[in-house]
Amino acid sequence: MSPDKFFEAELTERIDFTEDLGLFRFCPATPPPFKPGQYVTIVVQDGDKLLQRPYSIVSAPHEKCIELFLELVPHGALTPRLWELQPGARVFMRNRIVGNFIVDEAPGVQKHVMAATVTGIAPFLSMVRHQIYRMSLGDSNPRDFLILHGASRLAELGVYLRELQELAQIHDWLHYIPTVSRPWDESEWQGETGRVDDLVRKYADSLGFVADNAAGYACGNPQMIETVKGILARAQFPKQRIHEEKYFH
Ligand SMILES: Cc1cc2nc3c(=O)[nH]c(=O)nc-3n(C[C@H](O)[C@H](O)[C@H](O)COP(=O)(O)OP(=O)(O)OC[C@H]3O[C@@H](n4cnc5c(N)ncnc54)[C@H](O)[C@@H]3O)c2cc1C
Repeated sequence: MSPDKFFEAELTERIDFTEDLGLFRFCPATPPPFKPGQYVTIVVQDGDKLLQRPYSIVSAPHEKCIELFLELVPHGALTPRLWELQPGARVFMRNRIVGNFIVDEAPGVQKHVMAATVTGIAPFLSMVRHQIYRMSLGDSNPRDFLILHGASRLAELGVYLRELQELAQIHDWLHYIPTVSRPWDESEWQGETGRVDDLVRKYADSLGFVADNAAGYACGNPQMIETVKGILARAQFPKQRIHEEKYFH
């Protein structure tokens, strides 16, 4: 594959959270530039065609490797092939990392309410890690993030449950609300239960993330996204302040 268009990256780490969800860390020789929230395109040769799929990047731009949170889609064209990869394997990615699902920098927007289903947390993790990096460089005006993260079971939140819970304890600008929709499988769970979209108004209102000061984001499952968009629209969020990243149709 031509280096004009593609770069090669080695899978250096893989953590399987469940049989169909996992963290995959790919390290290229030189990490390409990108903005938090954007996606990389994995490319594999499929006969005489190229099979290409976009994946939101979990890692922040300053990190050396590209971290992805992947879901295996049974009978999908690409993901069963990714699931066969073991550390040391190499994949090609497009040089151009793109996407408009980035932090809204409109004047007056200081707060950001973000809803994710399972792997849809990826862009928000990149934004959080990037903000922490900027603070380490002296940025003293962090944006406020309210992140709502839904899954059926706790295991599906992977290592990101603990990462975001711990960061939210340290940083007062970060509010992280995980929720599980099958609480009967989680006898120890004391947190929120039910669907992520049902919690948006409860937390946005109580923490003061409102139409006058906030942008809204929804990422992952298309049904959740439609519901959250409707909720934010009814809360008077302007259309241009509501952002979406649908992973499939
Ligand atoms: C901007 C963007 C960012 C994305 N980021 C991520 C990411 O961070 N992590 C990630 O795992 N995926 C992500 N995806 C989805 C990813 O690009 C692929 O669509 C997914 O991995 C399935 O690829 P596949 O070739 O295995 O299945 P395909 O052969 O493409 O799909 C087979 C069928 O399954 C459906 N389908 C695809 N994905 C799902 C799903 N998750 N649940 C249920 N049905 C599905 C398709 O609509 C199709 O009908 C993203 C998609 C977009 C558009």
